Amino acid sequence: MLVVMERSASKEQVEAVVKAIESMGLSAHAMPGAQRTAIGITGNKQMVQDARLSGMPGVLEIIHVTQPYKLVSREFHPDNSIVKVGDVEFGGAFLPVIAGPCSVESEEQCFAIADAVKSAGAVLFRGGAFKPRTSPYDFQGLGVEGLRILDKVRVKFGLGIVTEAIDPQNLDVVEPYADMIQIGARNMQNYSLLRRAGKSRKPVLLKRGMSATLTELLMAAEYILSEGNANVVLCERGVRTFADHTRNTLDLSAIPFVHRTSHLPIISDPSHGTGRRDKVDALSRASVAVGADGLIIEVHNAPDRALSDGMQSLYIEQFQKLMATARSIAEVVGRRM
Ligand code: PEP
Ligand code: MN
Repeated sequence: MLVVMERSASKEQVEAVVKAIESMGLSAHAMPGAQRTAIGITGNKQMVQDARLSGMPGVLEIIHVTQPYKLVSREFHPDNSIVKVGDVEFGGAFLPVIAGPCSVESEEQCFAIADAVKSAGAVLFRGGAFKPRTSPYDFQGLGVEGLRILDKVRVKFGLGIVTEAIDPQNLDVVEPYADMIQIGARNMQNYSLLRRAGKSRKPVLLKRGMSATLTELLMAAEYILSEGNANVVLCERGVRTFADHTRNTLDLSAIPFVHRTSHLPIISDPSHGTGRRDKVDALSRASVAVGADGLIIEVHNAPDRALSDGMQSLYIEQFQKLMATARSIAEVVGRRM
């Protein structure tokens, strides 16, 4: 349920409603908006008896939220959320591009890629130090050594770092090194990891599971918000279908759906979404056209020698071209890159 306060409601009136909700044994989440404050209620198993609240001073209306997700829903929070990673904002007119290799392989590799993607316009560097691989025999990442390399990238290039945590204990290790913590597709329903990410102060990039519905994606985000971390950026990274011309099918319809249903930003990952570098440029343009709030792109200085996801990693020149063409689409839809 959502208590919408009048535009003129005072701080004291908002506080009184919060107290009244808490006295019913429920949790109140005050969400100040551009026009007015709304107070979300969670913790109720049944419909909340709203008579007591609707009569309180400053209360405009009470809305019963019908969807299973609450904190992530637009009913709860009508304005778009802006998620900040340092100075970089997701959810506004500017479209941040996150770029980097699938895996951190060496300092030289990361420095070469960071230098190139930064000058092409990427604003965050993504590299995996801990990789959740399908095969236990594949490269699993450099671990803490990889995190130390990412730290050097931040210092040398001034780029914020996005990197993945693969379980709750691993998040303890990754957290101090990351400016944004990635939760990968294989872990979208790792509920103990989601809860741990919800206790973090760092923003979270939550990727859609490869066979997850959008309700499941939003419910996964709800876990993070319900633990107190509202800084979540969603990511469409393609789903499993019968198609065999691509690794996954990038579900671009997810983007307008999420925008209608939730206030959280959603970015697109055409690298995993296609699995083929020759398709990444076109799907990046399409992602921007349907309203994606940013892109995450795998780029490598020597894709043919990459230790993971080389087939979908762009050559540096391809990334430069992608930035130029995606920018022109951003302009058409009233955004900037
Ligand atoms: C990745 O970002 O390199 C990755 C493993 O992605 P996903 O979790 O979407 O498969
Ligand atoms: Mn990858």
